[in-house]
Amino acid sequence: MEVRVFSCALEIMKKNIAIIGSGFSSLSAACYLAKYGHKVTVYEKNNELGGRARQFKEAGFTFDMGPSWYWMPDVFEKFFNDFNKSTKDYYEIRKLEPAYRVYFGLNDYLDIEDDPDKISEKFELIEEGSGKKLKKFLEKAKENYSIGVSDMLYKMPGISPLELVSFKTIKKIRYFISTIRKEVNREFKNPKLRSVLEFPVLFLGAKASNTPAFYNFMNYADFGLGTFQPTNGFHDLVNAMVSLGKSLGVDYKVNHDLQRIDIKNKKISSLIFRQKQINCDIVISGADYHHTESLLPKNFRQYSENYWKNRVFAPSSLLYYVGFNTKINKVQHHNLFFDTNFDKHAEEIYDNPKWPSDPLFYANFTSKTNLKTAPENCENGFFLIPIATDLEDSVEIREKYFKIILDKLELYTGQKLKKSIIYKKSFCVSDFKKEYNSYGGNAYGLANTLWQTAFLRPNIKSKMVQNLYFCGQLTVPGPGVPPAIVSGELVANLINK
Ligand SMILES: Cc1cc2nc3c(=O)[nH]c(=O)nc-3n(C[C@H](O)[C@H](O)[C@H](O)COP(=O)(O)OP(=O)(O)OC[C@H]3O[C@@H](n4cnc5c(N)ncnc54)[C@H](O)[C@@H]3O)c2cc1C
Repeated sequence: MEVRVFSCALEIMKKNIAIIGSGFSSLSAACYLAKYGHKVTVYEKNNELGGRARQFKEAGFTFDMGPSWYWMPDVFEKFFNDFNKSTKDYYEIRKLEPAYRVYFGLNDYLDIEDDPDKISEKFELIEEGSGKKLKKFLEKAKENYSIGVSDMLYKMPGISPLELVSFKTIKKIRYFISTIRKEVNREFKNPKLRSVLEFPVLFLGAKASNTPAFYNFMNYADFGLGTFQPTNGFHDLVNAMVSLGKSLGVDYKVNHDLQRIDIKNKKISSLIFRQKQINCDIVISGADYHHTESLLPKNFRQYSENYWKNRVFAPSSLLYYVGFNTKINKVQHHNLFFDTNFDKHAEEIYDNPKWPSDPLFYANFTSKTNLKTAPENCENGFFLIPIATDLEDSVEIREKYFKIILDKLELYTGQKLKKSIIYKKSFCVSDFKKEYNSYGGNAYGLANTLWQTAFLRPNIKSKMVQNLYFCGQLTVPGPGVPPAIVSGELVANLINK
């Protein structure tokens, strides 16, 4: 009898949960909630899972569409450990050596090695005394990483300012007031070293002069922990999380485009998709926050259009997926082309939004480390120019910038590459809007500025609709794959509480 009462109580507690979108935050939330015993279904509008980390194959090439820098491997490992698994149960990763190459001009580049001592030696060659300074800088960054990841990341659903207050964070208050730019400039004079140390800020979506110095823990992630590569790219992680979810009972539905959210008595009564209507107890949206709110009746939206207009969004991107029928010299797996004025480009993203006059860009060639991503003797190229959100993009503009990139690549490699292109696809602001319902075509959410950190970000739980929650790069903790995974865990734990 007692056993029956207990199992009845469990049945009552078991919720029917719908998760919108299949980005990493949604995939993560789905696994935790299924583990806690709930019935979970993921609804994705596109025909593949993974959100911005989708992958496609064309002309013998395999392209990861979004993320490519596998940083903070501890966060991925912890995720699988929470299910008594390891990343190794699903995919292999290997540390890249060198992690990446930074071009400053013709025959002028710096390879960032896989070890802080080796990087310090390189720094010393560029600026006397900078090797020692780098080691000290990284010690502080490591401390911040430990506080940031262990004490803050997983403990901040962004509900109260008190989450930020602890003995350890109070001791670090200086780092919340100062900026990355100030801290880097104080120690290093050489512009090349400064730009390399400011590079991780790009992942946070804001300017170095607008990002709290505490985020220098990303420098430890970069130089201290290193850059890894799953064998088949980021899609290995998507497949792993889906496979784990399926083993826990999660149901995944693609081609399910949510059109409207109906409310009754301050609760979601039904979700209206193109082809059907469903009812559930709880909804989590991992789709773009602004888009999700736009599907609600106006009086149930928490944030006005003016609120969104006044946020600092991470940049959009102009992307190219390119197949070359030749091998490319003088490039590594990851390459940064920082041979232009970093500040001018940042100004054209954030302060005076327009197409960049002299863009810096990023390129990866996954076939340098995994021959399977390109046909034999071919190279798989991915190019990214960060740009302001909401820019007009046209075929002509995309062609103009492609020529700028290819001219530079030809100059630096000494190869005629334009004639070797056998596949090309571009992706820009209008595609981000169309394919992901992304606000302004942002590529990776809401920037992590001081005023958009923790409880100052859009809420993880709706204040207007009782059974509506959010996860992903527009809420806590912020942009990037590791934060997206943590976001899924935070929302799942909040619901489970
Ligand atoms: C080009 C690029 C490069 C990046 N590089 C890196 C990197 O190297 N390292 C790193 O850590 N991070 C990187 N990022 C950031 C990282 O990819 C993202 O922060 C993270 O993947 C976002 O996950 P998410 O869960 O917030 O959702 P998303 O991946 O944005 O997924 C949201 C999902 O919701 C779906 N959706 C939207 N509307 C609806 C609807 N109405 N109905 C149903 N579904 C809907 C969308 O189709 C999408 O699949 C990069 C991002 C981009 C775009």
